[in-house]
Amino acid sequence: MANVEVPQNLLLQQLAKTDRAVYTRLLEELHPTPLERGASLDAARHRTKWVYFMESGIVSLVARTRQGQSLEVAIVGREGVAGFADALGRRRSPYRLTVQLPGFAYRVRTSVIEEHVRSCTAVHDVLMAYSQFLMHQLGQSALCSRFHTSVQRLARWLLLTAERAGTNRLPLTHDAIAQMVGAPRSAVTQAASELRSAGIIAYQRGLITVTSMTRLHKRSCECFDAVSSAWTGAAPAALRPKTDSLG
Ligand SMILES: [Zn+2]
Repeated sequence: MANVEVPQNLLLQQLAKTDRAVYTRLLEELHPTPLERGASLDAARHRTKWVYFMESGIVSLVARTRQGQSLEVAIVGREGVAGFADALGRRRSPYRLTVQLPGFAYRVRTSVIEEHVRSCTAVHDVLMAYSQFLMHQLGQSALCSRFHTSVQRLARWLLLTAERAGTNRLPLTHDAIAQMVGAPRSAVTQAASELRSAGIIAYQRGLITVTSMTRLHKRSCECFDAVSSAWTGAAPAALRPKTDSLG
C-alpha cells in the first residue's frame, strides 16, 4: 500500500472528491513505481497485470506495422492512466506502452480495477470518461498525420508533452521525437531547426528547451487545442497554469 497524501494524478484527485470511500479502498491497492525511460509497461496484445495512474513523466501509446515501423498515437501524463484497456473488456490493447519521459506512477493490479469496473464504482465512471478522451486523441492523431506539416506536428507534440510533464525542459533526442511525431528524422531535424532559428526552442545534447510556449502554440496545428480541451473536466485547467507561465 502507498502512503498517498496528495496525488498529482488528476483521476485520483477526481476520485477523492467524488467518492471518498472508493478512493480510500483504492489507496490500499496502490503501489509506488518509478518509470524508467524507454521501459515497456507491457507487450502489445499481451494481457497487462498492472494499471498505472501517472504521477509524473510521459507514457506513449505506440502502434506498430508488421515491418516494425512505429508511431505514437496518444500520450498519457498525470491527467491519465496507462494500461487500463484490459480492465474494461476482453480484447487486449494493440498498442505498446513506452515510457518517453521518466517519472513515477502508482500502479494497481488489473484484477482490482476489473472488480471496480464490474461493480460500477466511481472508478468505472472515471475510466469510462478517460477512455472517451483517449479515443479523441487517437482520432486526432490520424487527422494530424494526414493533414498537418512536420513543423505543426512537432509544435503540437512538444506542447502536449510539456503541458503534461509540467516543464519546458524535455530530455529527448531527435530520433525519439521523430518516432513520436511520425515523420522522417530528416523532416523532424529540419522542423526543429526552423523552430530554433525562430528562437522558440533551444536544444543541445538530448535536451530540448521550449523558450516560448506562446509562440510555439502559434506554430502548432489545431490538434493541440483539440486534444487539450477534449478533457472537459479538471485536466486542461489544472495542467495549463504551470506551462502558460513558461511562455
Ligand atoms: Zn495536427
